[in-house]
Amino acid sequence: MSGIEGRTAIVTGAGAGIGREIALRLAGAGAKVAACDVVEEGAQECAAAITAAGGEARAYANDVSDAAAVAELCARAAGELGGIHILINNAGITRDALLLRMSEQDWDAVLAVNLKGAFNFVKACARPMMKERWGRVVNIASVVGQMGNAGQANYAAAKAGMIGLTKSAARELAPRGITVNAVAPGFIETAMTRKLDEQARSAYARAIPLGRFGTPGDVADACLFLCSAAAAYITGQVIRVDGGMLM
Ligand code: NAP
Repeated sequence: MSGIEGRTAIVTGAGAGIGREIALRLAGAGAKVAACDVVEEGAQECAAAITAAGGEARAYANDVSDAAAVAELCARAAGELGGIHILINNAGITRDALLLRMSEQDWDAVLAVNLKGAFNFVKACARPMMKERWGRVVNIASVVGQMGNAGQANYAAAKAGMIGLTKSAARELAPRGITVNAVAPGFIETAMTRKLDEQARSAYARAIPLGRFGTPGDVADACLFLCSAAAAYITGQVIRVDGGMLM
Protein backbone atom coordinates (compact mmCIF):
# COMPACT_ATOMS: atom_id res chain seq x y z
CA MET A 1 0.00 0.00 0.00
CA SER A 2 1.54 3.30 -1.01
CA GLY A 3 3.01 5.62 1.62
CA ILE A 4 4.02 2.81 4.01
CA GLU A 5 7.17 1.46 2.34
CA GLY A 6 10.39 2.42 4.14
CA ARG A 7 8.57 3.90 7.14
CA THR A 8 9.27 2.77 10.70
CA ALA A 9 6.21 1.47 12.56
CA ILE A 10 5.83 0.81 16.28
CA VAL A 11 3.14 -1.75 17.11
CA THR A 12 2.28 -2.35 20.78
CA GLY A 13 0.87 -5.68 21.90
CA ALA A 14 2.38 -7.23 18.77
CA GLY A 15 2.88 -10.61 20.42
CA ALA A 16 -0.63 -11.90 19.78
CA GLY A 17 -4.01 -11.38 18.14
CA ILE A 18 -4.80 -8.13 16.35
CA GLY A 19 -1.42 -6.48 17.05
CA ARG A 20 0.53 -9.40 15.57
CA GLU A 21 -1.57 -9.28 12.39
CA ILE A 22 -1.14 -5.50 12.04
CA ALA A 23 2.63 -5.86 12.50
CA LEU A 24 2.84 -8.60 9.83
CA ARG A 25 0.76 -6.61 7.34
CA LEU A 26 2.67 -3.35 7.89
CA ALA A 27 5.90 -5.27 7.29
CA GLY A 28 4.34 -6.85 4.19
CA ALA A 29 3.66 -3.33 2.92
CA GLY A 30 7.35 -2.49 3.36
CA ALA A 31 7.48 -0.90 6.83
CA LYS A 32 10.31 -1.58 9.30
CA VAL A 33 8.50 -2.82 12.39
CA ALA A 34 9.26 -2.42 16.08
CA ALA A 35 7.26 -5.32 17.53
CA CYS A 36 6.58 -4.48 21.19
CA ASP A 37 4.95 -6.64 23.83
CA VAL A 38 4.98 -7.09 27.57
CA VAL A 39 5.90 -10.74 26.94
CA GLU A 40 9.37 -10.83 25.39
CA GLU A 41 8.83 -14.18 23.60
CA GLY A 42 5.68 -12.80 21.92
CA ALA A 43 7.55 -9.78 20.58
CA GLN A 44 10.43 -11.99 19.43
CA GLU A 45 8.13 -14.50 17.73
CA CYS A 46 6.39 -11.68 15.83
CA ALA A 47 9.69 -10.12 14.74
CA ALA A 48 10.98 -13.56 13.69
CA ALA A 49 7.84 -14.20 11.60
CA ILE A 50 8.34 -10.86 9.83
CA THR A 51 12.01 -11.56 9.18
CA ALA A 52 11.22 -15.07 7.91
CA ALA A 53 8.78 -13.53 5.42
CA GLY A 54 11.55 -11.24 4.11
CA GLY A 55 10.65 -8.12 6.12
CA GLU A 56 12.57 -6.03 8.64
CA ALA A 57 11.69 -6.06 12.35
CA ARG A 58 13.09 -5.82 15.84
CA ALA A 59 11.53 -7.06 19.06
CA TYR A 60 11.14 -4.85 22.14
CA ALA A 61 9.80 -6.04 25.50
CA ASN A 62 8.03 -3.45 27.61
CA ASP A 63 4.98 -2.60 29.66
CA VAL A 64 3.08 0.22 27.92
CA SER A 65 1.96 1.67 31.26
CA ASP A 66 5.56 2.48 32.30
CA ALA A 67 6.15 5.99 30.92
CA ALA A 68 9.94 6.02 31.44
CA ALA A 69 10.35 2.60 29.78
CA VAL A 70 8.18 3.71 26.84
CA ALA A 71 10.28 6.85 26.30
CA GLU A 72 13.45 4.74 26.39
CA LEU A 73 12.00 2.14 24.00
CA CYS A 74 10.93 4.79 21.47
CA ALA A 75 14.34 6.47 21.54
CA ARG A 76 16.02 3.07 21.00
CA ALA A 77 13.67 2.04 18.20
CA ALA A 78 14.11 5.40 16.44
CA GLY A 79 17.90 4.97 16.59
CA GLU A 80 17.90 1.33 15.49
CA LEU A 81 15.24 1.50 12.77
CA GLY A 82 15.61 5.08 11.50
CA GLY A 83 13.04 7.46 13.03
CA ILE A 84 9.41 6.75 13.93
CA HIS A 85 6.64 7.37 11.40
CA ILE A 86 3.76 5.07 12.34
CA LEU A 87 2.41 4.21 15.79
CA ILE A 88 -0.24 1.57 16.40
CA ASN A 89 -1.46 1.72 20.01
CA ASN A 90 -2.91 -1.78 20.23
CA ALA A 91 -1.89 -3.27 23.62
CA GLY A 92 -4.95 -3.83 25.75
CA ILE A 93 -6.35 -5.92 28.57
CA THR A 94 -9.74 -6.65 30.10
CA ARG A 95 -10.59 -7.24 33.78
CA ASP A 96 -14.38 -7.69 33.56
CA ALA A 97 -16.75 -7.48 36.54
CA LEU A 98 -20.07 -5.86 37.33
CA LEU A 99 -19.61 -2.40 38.87
CA LEU A 100 -20.42 -3.40 42.44
CA ARG A 101 -17.86 -6.19 42.29
CA MET A 102 -15.16 -4.35 40.33
CA SER A 103 -12.04 -3.88 42.43
CA GLU A 104 -10.00 -0.70 42.46
CA GLN A 105 -7.05 -2.78 41.17
CA ASP A 106 -9.04 -3.97 38.15
CA TRP A 107 -10.14 -0.42 37.38
CA ASP A 108 -6.57 0.93 37.67
CA ALA A 109 -4.97 -1.89 35.67
CA VAL A 110 -7.31 -1.49 32.68
CA LEU A 111 -6.97 2.31 32.62
CA ALA A 112 -3.18 2.05 32.99
CA VAL A 113 -2.65 -0.31 30.04
CA ASN A 114 -5.38 0.74 27.61
CA LEU A 115 -5.44 4.51 28.16
CA LYS A 116 -2.25 5.64 29.87
CA GLY A 117 -0.28 3.23 27.67
CA ALA A 118 -1.61 4.94 24.54
CA PHE A 119 -0.83 8.39 25.99
CA ASN A 120 2.72 7.29 26.86
CA PHE A 121 3.40 6.16 23.30
CA VAL A 122 1.76 9.15 21.57
CA LYS A 123 3.83 11.47 23.75
CA ALA A 124 7.08 9.61 23.08
CA CYS A 125 6.50 9.33 19.32
CA ALA A 126 5.14 12.83 18.67
CA ARG A 127 8.55 14.56 18.66
CA PRO A 128 10.25 12.25 16.12
CA MET A 129 7.13 12.41 13.92
CA MET A 130 7.06 16.23 14.17
CA LYS A 131 10.70 16.29 13.08
CA GLU A 132 9.73 14.33 9.95
CA ARG A 133 6.60 16.48 9.44
CA TRP A 134 4.82 13.19 8.73
CA GLY A 135 3.20 10.68 11.02
CA ARG A 136 0.35 8.24 11.38
CA VAL A 137 -1.11 7.23 14.74
CA VAL A 138 -3.83 4.59 14.97
CA ASN A 139 -5.34 3.88 18.39
CA ILE A 140 -7.17 0.56 18.72
CA ALA A 141 -10.27 1.48 20.72
CA SER A 142 -13.48 -0.61 20.80
CA VAL A 143 -17.18 -0.24 19.99
CA VAL A 144 -17.63 -0.73 23.73
CA GLY A 145 -16.08 2.75 24.20
CA GLN A 146 -18.99 4.17 22.23
CA MET A 147 -21.88 1.99 23.40
CA GLY A 148 -20.87 0.83 26.90
CA ASN A 149 -21.13 -2.77 28.07
CA ALA A 150 -22.39 -4.29 31.31
CA GLY A 151 -19.44 -5.80 33.16
CA GLN A 152 -16.87 -3.64 31.38
CA ALA A 153 -17.09 -0.19 33.03
CA ASN A 154 -13.29 -0.01 33.30
CA TYR A 155 -12.64 -1.15 29.72
CA ALA A 156 -15.41 1.00 28.21
CA ALA A 157 -14.14 4.07 30.10
CA ALA A 158 -10.58 3.42 28.92
CA LYS A 159 -11.66 2.97 25.29
CA ALA A 160 -13.89 6.09 25.41
CA GLY A 161 -10.88 7.91 26.85
CA MET A 162 -8.78 6.71 23.92
CA ILE A 163 -11.27 8.29 21.55
CA GLY A 164 -10.92 11.64 23.39
CA LEU A 165 -7.14 11.26 23.26
CA THR A 166 -7.36 10.53 19.52
CA LYS A 167 -9.37 13.67 18.75
CA SER A 168 -7.23 15.95 20.93
CA ALA A 169 -3.96 14.61 19.53
CA ALA A 170 -5.39 14.90 16.00
CA ARG A 171 -6.06 18.60 16.55
CA GLU A 172 -2.66 19.26 18.14
CA LEU A 173 -0.57 17.35 15.64
CA ALA A 174 -2.38 18.12 12.36
CA PRO A 175 -0.27 21.25 11.66
CA ARG A 176 2.82 18.98 11.62
CA GLY A 177 1.46 16.56 9.04
CA ILE A 178 0.53 13.88 11.58
CA THR A 179 -2.87 12.18 11.43
CA VAL A 180 -4.36 10.48 14.49
CA ASN A 181 -7.33 8.13 14.14
CA ALA A 182 -8.98 5.35 16.10
CA VAL A 183 -10.17 1.97 14.91
CA ALA A 184 -13.00 0.56 17.01
CA PRO A 185 -13.34 -3.20 16.56
CA GLY A 186 -16.47 -5.10 17.52
CA PHE A 187 -16.03 -8.76 18.42
CA ILE A 188 -12.85 -10.16 16.90
CA GLU A 189 -11.60 -13.78 17.08
CA THR A 190 -8.60 -13.56 19.47
CA ALA A 191 -7.59 -14.79 22.93
CA MET A 192 -9.58 -11.86 24.37
CA THR A 193 -12.91 -13.16 23.01
CA ARG A 194 -12.09 -16.86 23.38
CA LYS A 195 -12.81 -16.30 27.10
CA LEU A 196 -16.54 -15.89 26.24
CA ASP A 197 -18.76 -18.94 26.80
CA GLU A 198 -20.73 -20.45 23.89
CA GLN A 199 -24.02 -18.89 24.98
CA ALA A 200 -22.56 -15.37 25.09
CA ARG A 201 -20.77 -15.92 21.75
CA SER A 202 -23.95 -16.86 19.91
CA ALA A 203 -25.92 -14.01 21.52
CA TYR A 204 -23.26 -11.53 20.39
CA ALA A 205 -23.06 -13.07 16.88
CA ARG A 206 -26.86 -12.64 16.50
CA ALA A 207 -26.42 -8.89 17.19
CA ILE A 208 -23.94 -8.54 14.30
CA PRO A 209 -25.64 -7.80 10.95
CA LEU A 210 -22.81 -9.50 9.03
CA GLY A 211 -23.43 -12.57 11.19
CA ARG A 212 -19.92 -13.41 12.40
CA PHE A 213 -17.10 -12.29 14.65
CA GLY A 214 -14.38 -10.39 12.77
CA THR A 215 -10.82 -11.57 12.19
CA PRO A 216 -7.60 -9.79 13.15
CA GLY A 217 -7.11 -9.27 9.40
CA ASP A 218 -10.37 -7.28 9.19
CA VAL A 219 -8.95 -4.83 11.77
CA ALA A 220 -5.47 -4.79 10.23
CA ASP A 221 -6.92 -3.82 6.82
CA ALA A 222 -8.51 -0.68 8.33
CA CYS A 223 -5.23 0.21 10.07
CA LEU A 224 -3.23 -0.18 6.89
CA PHE A 225 -5.62 2.08 5.03
CA LEU A 226 -5.30 4.76 7.74
CA CYS A 227 -1.49 4.56 7.52
CA SER A 228 -1.44 4.77 3.72
CA ALA A 229 -1.22 7.76 1.41
CA ALA A 230 -4.89 7.17 0.53
CA ALA A 231 -5.91 8.33 4.03
CA ALA A 232 -3.84 11.53 4.07
CA TYR A 233 -6.93 13.75 4.54
CA ILE A 234 -8.52 11.70 7.34
CA THR A 235 -7.80 12.63 10.96
CA GLY A 236 -9.59 12.58 14.31
CA GLN A 237 -11.96 9.84 13.12
CA VAL A 238 -13.20 6.61 14.64
CA ILE A 239 -13.57 3.83 12.09
CA ARG A 240 -15.70 0.97 13.37
CA VAL A 241 -14.80 -2.54 12.23
CA ASP A 242 -17.70 -4.42 13.77
CA GLY A 243 -19.78 -6.12 11.08
CA GLY A 244 -22.41 -3.39 11.48
CA MET A 245 -23.04 -4.10 15.18
CA LEU A 246 -23.17 -0.38 16.08
CA MET A 247 -24.61 1.96 13.46
P1 NAP B 1 -4.83 -10.14 22.84
O1 NAP B 1 -4.91 -11.29 21.91
O2 NAP B 1 -4.99 -10.35 24.30
O3 NAP B 1 -3.47 -9.35 22.54
C1 NAP B 1 -3.09 -8.21 23.26
C2 NAP B 1 -1.58 -8.16 23.34
O4 NAP B 1 -1.21 -7.04 24.16
C3 NAP B 1 -1.01 -9.41 24.01
O5 NAP B 1 0.14 -9.85 23.36
C4 NAP B 1 -0.73 -8.91 25.41
O6 NAP B 1 0.24 -9.67 26.10
C5 NAP B 1 -0.26 -7.48 25.12
N1 NAP B 1 -0.26 -6.69 26.32
C6 NAP B 1 -1.10 -6.79 27.40
N2 NAP B 1 -0.75 -5.92 28.35
C7 NAP B 1 0.33 -5.25 27.89
C8 NAP B 1 1.16 -4.24 28.44
N3 NAP B 1 0.96 -3.75 29.67
N4 NAP B 1 2.19 -3.76 27.69
C9 NAP B 1 2.42 -4.26 26.47
N5 NAP B 1 1.69 -5.24 25.90
C10 NAP B 1 0.65 -5.72 26.60
O7 NAP B 1 -5.93 -9.03 22.47
P2 NAP B 1 -6.56 -8.63 21.06
O8 NAP B 1 -7.92 -9.19 21.01
O9 NAP B 1 -5.61 -8.86 19.95
O10 NAP B 1 -6.73 -7.06 21.33
C11 NAP B 1 -5.87 -6.09 20.77
C12 NAP B 1 -6.50 -4.72 20.97
O11 NAP B 1 -7.80 -4.70 20.33
C13 NAP B 1 -6.77 -4.38 22.44
O12 NAP B 1 -6.52 -3.02 22.66
C14 NAP B 1 -8.23 -4.67 22.60
O13 NAP B 1 -8.81 -3.93 23.66
C15 NAP B 1 -8.77 -4.27 21.25
N6 NAP B 1 -10.05 -4.88 20.93
C16 NAP B 1 -10.19 -6.23 20.81
C17 NAP B 1 -11.43 -6.77 20.50
C18 NAP B 1 -11.66 -8.25 20.34
O14 NAP B 1 -12.83 -8.64 20.17
N7 NAP B 1 -10.64 -9.08 20.38
C19 NAP B 1 -12.52 -5.92 20.31
C20 NAP B 1 -12.35 -4.55 20.46
C21 NAP B 1 -11.10 -4.04 20.75
P3 NAP B 1 -0.36 -10.82 27.11
O15 NAP B 1 -1.28 -11.65 26.30
O16 NAP B 1 0.78 -11.55 27.60
O17 NAP B 1 -1.05 -10.05 28.19
